[in-house]
Amino acid sequence: MSIESRYQPLFEPVRLGPVTAPNRFYQVPHCSGMGNALPRTLAAMRGMKAEGGWGVVCTEYCSLHPSSDDQPHPFASLWDDGDVANLAAMAHQVHTHGALAGVELWHGGSFVANLATRLPTIGVRSMPSRDEPVQSQRMGRSDIRAFRKWHLAAARRACQAGFDIIYVYPTHGYLLSEFLSRSLNDRVDEYGGTLENRARLLRELLEETRAAVGDRCAIAVRFSADGHGDEHLSAAEAHDVVAMLGDLPDLWDLVVGDYYGEEMATSRFVREGSLEERFAAVKRLTCKPVVGVGRFTSPDTMVRQIRARVLDLIGAARPSIADPFLPAKIREGRVEEIRECIGCNVCYAYNYRGAAVRCTQNPTMGEEWRRGWHPERVPPGKGGSVLVIGAGPAGLEAAHILGKRGYDVTLADAAEEPGGRVTLESRLPGLAEWARVRDYRLTQLRSMPRVSMYLGNRLSAAEALEFAADHILIATGARWRRDGLGRWHARGIEGLASRSVLTPDDIMGGARPAGEVTIFDDDHYYMAPVIAVLLATGGAQVTYVTTAGRAAEWSHYTGEQERTQQQLLDLGVGVIVNTAVEAFDGQAVTLGCVYSGRRRQHPASELILVTSREPQDGLYWELVDQDAATATPRIQRIGDCRQPALIAHAVFAGHQAARELDEADEGSPPQRDRSVIGGL
Ligand code: ADP
Ligand code: SF4
Repeated sequence: MSIESRYQPLFEPVRLGPVTAPNRFYQVPHCSGMGNALPRTLAAMRGMKAEGGWGVVCTEYCSLHPSSDDQPHPFASLWDDGDVANLAAMAHQVHTHGALAGVELWHGGSFVANLATRLPTIGVRSMPSRDEPVQSQRMGRSDIRAFRKWHLAAARRACQAGFDIIYVYPTHGYLLSEFLSRSLNDRVDEYGGTLENRARLLRELLEETRAAVGDRCAIAVRFSADGHGDEHLSAAEAHDVVAMLGDLPDLWDLVVGDYYGEEMATSRFVREGSLEERFAAVKRLTCKPVVGVGRFTSPDTMVRQIRARVLDLIGAARPSIADPFLPAKIREGRVEEIRECIGCNVCYAYNYRGAAVRCTQNPTMGEEWRRGWHPERVPPGKGGSVLVIGAGPAGLEAAHILGKRGYDVTLADAAEEPGGRVTLESRLPGLAEWARVRDYRLTQLRSMPRVSMYLGNRLSAAEALEFAADHILIATGARWRRDGLGRWHARGIEGLASRSVLTPDDIMGGARPAGEVTIFDDDHYYMAPVIAVLLATGGAQVTYVTTAGRAAEWSHYTGEQERTQQQLLDLGVGVIVNTAVEAFDGQAVTLGCVYSGRRRQHPASELILVTSREPQDGLYWELVDQDAATATPRIQRIGDCRQPALIAHAVFAGHQAARELDEADEGSPPQRDRSVIGGL
């Protein structure tokens, strides 16, 4: 199929020094939660991106020496021949599909704590690490010389592993950004003082890498287009660095200084392509190609970036996770089939938690090797009929995959509108993009003649059995509890039964309490703060109470915590932490300190409980009971009605149930990626 002419520019090759990217789709370095611990998993995941059409596929941050280890966060490494062999497998898989492989050589400097290697960390001066009560060792001249040798050796190993692009990485607070920082770099030698001196190490690394491997590998610099804040490296200084070094690298990979707030921000806070102006300013300073990110999912936006000469290559981390086949779909004129990233940062959160990457939109992400899942292909099924009850994310994904496998599917929902929780939650402030979870699947279902929708009917067990389907998947979701039961209250809040309290389901159903509203957050993620924003914007006097030490505690892992708390404070929401709601009488809530147990009254005419959810599994149990008696269809429960969790879990559950329906080895454990003693 020929490429639509307006998207043709995206498929032009781009020369990067000694190598050529086959097109402009560039998967920038991104964390995977796999790193050096899961080499086969990593190779298959990166290879899948290349298969899907990404012209360049990079590693995550790749430690160049054991003095930079970020345990417990998974990272890649190029310390020795074993690492060379493992990363060569990744480069090979990427090359198999005609793409270039890039490696982001990284030294964490003072930021890390070397929990694994127990080597002293090194820094431009002695400074505390990010999380541990550990400080780095100030680097003397001999340490700088040693560091340059390590970098060079790692670049040679990268070349040996088959990488085509090698990064020098002076960004994100790591070692080389310490040197660039006006505040942190207090050296009085040739590496401190003037900007030229502070950039000296960066220049030396670029020159040395060029001399060693520059005839075979392109050299990229990942750089913040607007510096790292005025006290470290102002935007003007960042521009001066680019002007100074402009032509030394073969590629500038641009980011911005505010990592959590902007570069990696969720769709709640930042829109697609929002970094454009800052990238354009740098692009004007160099004649070398520039790549930059912007959570791009729209090919029209991408083309505009190229035509406006903002970027030469379209950088993507999250859009390539949500849809490894995004470039192929544009090339083949299937733009409406793109599984667009929703900007939730669940991918990032699980890497942060030390687990392999997963994605709300793409349930196959991270499962390419161990489960053999392909994001676009599923094996044909044995045929037959399936009734899926509940068209939330679990039911929609199940119906979609079953339809692809050739089953006759009826997707039923009590609501007139499909989407379940995704439809409801996407109407809350900042969550509009979450509707993409529903919309992608509905678009797929529309082209499947064997899938029919049966909306606006709440099915009873008897009605479900009347369908006489071979299989029934129950995806009836969960509802927020009204009794306060959760992490803090094992039995709920006493005396609530006689009071009228609200839950997120009421708010999503249209309830808009006014006056003095207390929201009790024992859930610790987005729901309670988002409701606080909704009601405070509508004029209510809102107090947010949480058992955690700060607002939306878990959203620390999605990078949203700070902006969430800021947003609440900006809106005048009272934030009370380390506190539980212990009672409510219609005029006040009784608050209890989680440490001292001390109690106090706080005025409240309304109480909204965001504590935990109750699986809506009544239909499942009824059917299972009847099934035992009548040997009727195989019945499974999936998604929130089995295990209330994130939308990502529901999509995964729907996918797995549909992919494994009728499989001979159903339920068999996935492969494990590990080295076995004796090399078995
Ligand atoms: P999940 O996240 O597991 O997909 P959701 O809560 O998003 O679950 O969706 C559950 C859906 O199931 C809702 O849209 C709800 O209307 C629907 N549902 C619940 N019970 C029934 C029933 N008995 N018959 C039909 N639909 C139902
Ligand atoms: Fe995008 Fe969310 Fe998937 Fe990450 S997890 S790629 S942010 S949809």
